[in-house]
Amino acid sequence: MRKRRKMSKRYRKMPINREADRSRRILKICLGLFALCLLVVGGYFGLKLAGIDVSSVSKPSSEAPSSYTQISSTEPSSETQDVVSEPSVPDPVSIHILGVGDNLIHDAIYKQAQTRAGGEGYDFSFVYQRVAEDIAAADVAVINQETILASEKFPPSNYPMFCTPVEMGDELVSLGFDVVNQANNHVLDKGVEGMEAALDYWDTQPVMAIGAYRDDEDLMNIRIVESNGIKTAHIGITEMTNGLSLPADSPYRIVYTSETELIEKLIKKAKSMADVVVVSAHWGNENTSEVTEAQQTLAQNMVNWGADIIFGNHAHTLQPLTVLTRESDGAQCPVIYAMGNFVSAQAYGMNMISGMLDVTVTKDFETGKTTFTDMTFKPIVTHYGAGYSDITIYPLSEYTDELAASHGVCARTPAFSLAYLNQFVADTIPEEYLD
Ligand SMILES: [Zn+2]
Repeated sequence: MRKRRKMSKRYRKMPINREADRSRRILKICLGLFALCLLVVGGYFGLKLAGIDVSSVSKPSSEAPSSYTQISSTEPSSETQDVVSEPSVPDPVSIHILGVGDNLIHDAIYKQAQTRAGGEGYDFSFVYQRVAEDIAAADVAVINQETILASEKFPPSNYPMFCTPVEMGDELVSLGFDVVNQANNHVLDKGVEGMEAALDYWDTQPVMAIGAYRDDEDLMNIRIVESNGIKTAHIGITEMTNGLSLPADSPYRIVYTSETELIEKLIKKAKSMADVVVVSAHWGNENTSEVTEAQQTLAQNMVNWGADIIFGNHAHTLQPLTVLTRESDGAQCPVIYAMGNFVSAQAYGMNMISGMLDVTVTKDFETGKTTFTDMTFKPIVTHYGAGYSDITIYPLSEYTDELAASHGVCARTPAFSLAYLNQFVADTIPEEYLD
């Protein structure tokens, strides 16, 4: 601004030569009008890109009047102009983006849901009742649906080839999930037909299903969820599909972590369309908190390509939470390598610890930039009694040693206790991010 005012002053100090000055003036007015048009059009698209409803912006942007002052030397003092055209930039806005772990639906879970529904249909609400508020409170909530919802075509089934009743999807929708990732090692448990059945089901629901696509065009159609004027783009990738693969002639698509060129292309496209790029990555080794070198390399690459948040999963236990720095612009990007099982009927203590990662991002409408400003990790525990009875999720803050002592896993993990769970959290989640 200051620089521009100085320039406009210099214009006024130019020596006067009447003829030349007149043509110069005409030229300046033409240039001025042309620049004004450019600025109005540019400003309009700039606001559009920044996600601002242009119709709601009553005053011109800060750029137009000050630049106009620079060119048109016949205008009165730039001071008065600037007062009239004070920019109307909305205050910064923040949203909460919540990620959770693997929704791993063993038969014990859907059989209990069937009993709770009175034998007809499934009622999964018992499982999620203590975390329902957290999910509802998030602006954008993302889950990894580990088991395919293909019950319209196949009977429900357990490990190793899972099939989950679609009523689970109804439950996720009513809890408030916005994005459901299906890029994981069980996506092909029921073949292409199962994948198709799941996609057909998700098409009927008001959520974005990612990670399994009908064809290349569907894959390149980046899923965007907008909240409070902030656009979040979502991509799902997986390291493996348990030795199963799509038939060579199938148009269906899954993105593997080995397809780095494609991932880069997807992330860059997503970045051009949205303020925040969220990648759901299914990777690494099971039943360990140790992150592989491949996970770390891909995480840093994805951040460099434009990913802002990485919600990792697959380990069925907690893996570290960290913040990576983007090389090009120094942006800080939260990465959790695995959040554990959101729920499961797995057998061991380490499979019971999990958590929900709540990332706050803030958009500055003046710069158009959205940055990570805060995050909180809320540890949770899957609890069940003897014989996998009454499977349900507890926030760790509500969990007790009495509950731990009654947990069905104690038969196989005698060390299971509140201290055991807290140790897992302390080993993987920096204290500053703990809820
Ligand atoms: Zn998995």
